[in-house]
Amino acid sequence: MAPQKLFLEGSWQEGQGTPLTVTSPIDGSVLTTLAAASSDDVDRAVASARRAFADGRWSRLAPAARKKILMRIADRIEAEAVELAVLGVRDNGTEFNMALKAEPGSAAGTFRYYAEALDKVAGEVAPTPPDVLGLVHRAPVGVVAAIVPWNFPLMIGAWKLAPALAMGNSVILKPAESASLSLLRLAEICAECGLPDGVLNVVTGRGTETGAALAHHMDVDVMVFTGSGATGRHLLAASAQSNLKRCYLELGGKSPNIVFADAKDLDQAAKVAAMGIFRNSGQVCVAGSRLLVERSIHDHFVDQLKTHAEALRVGDPLDLNSQIGAVNSSAQLAANLRHVDQALSEGGNIVCGGQQILQKTGGTYMAPTIVTGVTRDAALFQNEVFGPVLSVTAFDSEEEAIQLANATSYGLAAGVWTADLSRAHRCIAELRTGVVHVNTYGGADMTVPLGGVGQSGNGHDKSLYALDKFVDLKSAWIQL
Ligand code: ADP
Repeated sequence: MAPQKLFLEGSWQEGQGTPLTVTSPIDGSVLTTLAAASSDDVDRAVASARRAFADGRWSRLAPAARKKILMRIADRIEAEAVELAVLGVRDNGTEFNMALKAEPGSAAGTFRYYAEALDKVAGEVAPTPPDVLGLVHRAPVGVVAAIVPWNFPLMIGAWKLAPALAMGNSVILKPAESASLSLLRLAEICAECGLPDGVLNVVTGRGTETGAALAHHMDVDVMVFTGSGATGRHLLAASAQSNLKRCYLELGGKSPNIVFADAKDLDQAAKVAAMGIFRNSGQVCVAGSRLLVERSIHDHFVDQLKTHAEALRVGDPLDLNSQIGAVNSSAQLAANLRHVDQALSEGGNIVCGGQQILQKTGGTYMAPTIVTGVTRDAALFQNEVFGPVLSVTAFDSEEEAIQLANATSYGLAAGVWTADLSRAHRCIAELRTGVVHVNTYGGADMTVPLGGVGQSGNGHDKSLYALDKFVDLKSAWIQL
């Protein structure tokens, strides 16, 4: 593949930083290089976005005109879905079948959703006394920086881009080092569909250089981010040290999946729980990585889980027979293995997996791993792995299940398996998470928001609530 460039002001431009090598996790081959944006390049990207915002080429277009272009982008993503999915899989390693749905499939749906929404969200006339008119406008914020991770670049990129663009903002997008290719193509698609130059600039590069330059920039109004808690802290600090830009952070989790003995179909629960952690090799922010299972069914349920985990075909993500693809990078694989070692040293027992597999391919693959006997103070119970490693802990009562579920610093997602409707509602109320799945895990669509509490972050992607991040409320008070 030809060396990749930055997408600035509607054209491909060289970066001034030292280019990055893109290695495929599928077989370790070198795919291409990425341009690395220096802080000067980031300045150029922000200046271009600011100019575009200020002259109104997008921000002051009639909503119907913006809608037409966003709809066109959705159609093009859909038309190129296979190419986009393959491109993304080559650098990030997600199994193709899932990538096709979760990446271009989801991104097209997201663009369409916000295109349809943008001329249906209106301001307000306030209930004032008759001699005054109070108006509440929803004004675009201006220049948005979006820093996104490598697990689902198109899906998460679209969650940030589409609502920001729908509201009339300009955006600078910073993809992750190991998942930039499909987002670079998306930028080109946006331009081909009529998005004016400068409204979307894409700066690739290192987080600590390109990302940090965006985070510290004095002319970025809003920062939206999905990634690790450590980087989230850097972004908040950078905001405090620069212009107090608003920061919205989606920071992953250690999501509990609670299985009660009264669940209607335990085998189905085991199957869904296995996919809830092992799809995309566990590299999913809402992964159900912490199984809490009622003691009376613990051994039986773990056996069922093991059967499902061992039946999963791990392999080349571009092979349609593979159900689980590659771990994104050798660094991530090494971190996963360290988590397993630590779990063992803290008294956990490996039921299956625990090791790298398919070394001969030259790629980075890990066997689906289940660790039982994980206690509340163990690192595997408390810390996100972001790999195919399931932590299992037994509980004796509903009260204990809730206590265990809420006993980490995270609060992104949870699952509850029960046939008791009252218990399900009690759990929904008591679980300190942004989303609670009941008798299923994952799959929540665009109609509901996704966001965390606690150290899983703040702000919401998806649904109409996502628009709030990209508008300022502006009041007008008019004496009649
Ligand atoms: P992960 O651990 O999942 O890779 P990161 O938080 O490291 O998550 O990466 C998510 C995104 O944040 C990537 O685009 C990465 O380049 C970027 N990033 C990493 N470090 C920084 C930083 N110090 N400042 C700004 N962006 C960063």
